[in-house]
Amino acid sequence: MKVFKFGGASVKDADAVRNVASIVSRYPEKLGVVVSAMGKTTNAMEEIVGQLWDRNEARFVELVEERRAFHLDILAGLFETNENGVFAEVNKEFDQLLLKYSERVPDNFNFEYDQIVSIGEVVSTKIIAAFLNESSIKSSWTDAREIVRTDNQYREAEVDWNRTEELFTEKFIPLFDDNDVLVMQGFIGHTAEGFTTTLGREGSDFTAAIMAYCCNAESVTIWKDVPGMLNADPKWFEDTVKLDRISFKEAIELSYYGASVIHPKTVKPLQNKKIPLYVKSFIDPEAEGTTIQASESQDHLIPSFIFKLDQVLFSITPKDFSFLVEKNLSDILNRISRVNAKINVMQNSALNFSFLVDAAKTDIQKVLDVFEDQYLVKFNDGLELITIRHYDDATIDRVTKNKEVLLEQKTRETARLIVKNK
Ligand code: ASP
Ligand code: MG
Repeated sequence: MKVFKFGGASVKDADAVRNVASIVSRYPEKLGVVVSAMGKTTNAMEEIVGQLWDRNEARFVELVEERRAFHLDILAGLFETNENGVFAEVNKEFDQLLLKYSERVPDNFNFEYDQIVSIGEVVSTKIIAAFLNESSIKSSWTDAREIVRTDNQYREAEVDWNRTEELFTEKFIPLFDDNDVLVMQGFIGHTAEGFTTTLGREGSDFTAAIMAYCCNAESVTIWKDVPGMLNADPKWFEDTVKLDRISFKEAIELSYYGASVIHPKTVKPLQNKKIPLYVKSFIDPEAEGTTIQASESQDHLIPSFIFKLDQVLFSITPKDFSFLVEKNLSDILNRISRVNAKINVMQNSALNFSFLVDAAKTDIQKVLDVFEDQYLVKFNDGLELITIRHYDDATIDRVTKNKEVLLEQKTRETARLIVKNK
């Protein structure tokens, strides 16, 4: 059995869904197919939860009807008549969503979020499963809300691996006896009490890894609108290069530093069972794509570049000019963690501790306040963090042209540069 994952962009309209069916039909093996919500539906569902929470009924109803129309429109593009049961099923999901407004006043935002946002994945997978069957591909819809077991940290639920593996064995794998393709929602799961949870935004890649791990799949393929993993975001470089073959370890490193092609949690479970991961283009499905597997032999061949913009560099000095030793370093880290700042890079000297954070994720005033009693704090904003894996002098020169380098850190494999435009 193989696992395929199709993201929102690959099912954004009727033509896209037809393309998914055509890709699936080329593979004779049993397939577990993980699908995200269609197009920008998750963002739209987030807005719907917001209106429910703010008790804005008119806008809530309007947005729900917009989402219903979006899905019915896709269905109309896929089926000649509306006799297929999926029309009624999709309508029912939105009817039930409308009822939520008057059911009760919600009191736990994250809980409500998961119960509602998950509907995007539910309707998407219903449509895909129905259309695959319509295209003579013997398929069954399966429900992650009965298979992927999590704790109850709504919006960031953690997977209960043992129970999930049992549930895949009991409720999922046997369905292959009568089906060639099993379609399941990405991104969602359920608690022991049966409430719906979500695994964090962009979590569908992770679901594909969970499925593959629990079913001992032969491989996972993530179908994307890019030819594979590239060595830089094409937003920054015109001449990006595809990475043909990299190791699990390298993929984890790249996603840690901010490469956004695959969800960071995806690789680890696959690495544990040595299940190869392919990243391929749904636009050009015959093309090779990127293979992520155990061997590290090709990791060094192509340097990769990861850019983070809008960075803020803080510089902290003890007011009594004491040296920075373990004791005040741990006090500094404690204070940083108290204000929930997430460090991208840090460095210290005798009297000074510097750390870099994302401006968008950090409350600068809070950072200033938390240090104020015992430290002098300065900060420099509008900076850029550049990470180069497998760097050399030429790659560093290339990215620092017309930039002032404020801080540089190098290990054998990785160079990190904090820079500012000149
Ligand atoms: N639909 C979810 C999101 O947009 C999960 C995913 O696409 O991976 O975040
Ligand atoms: Mg997505």
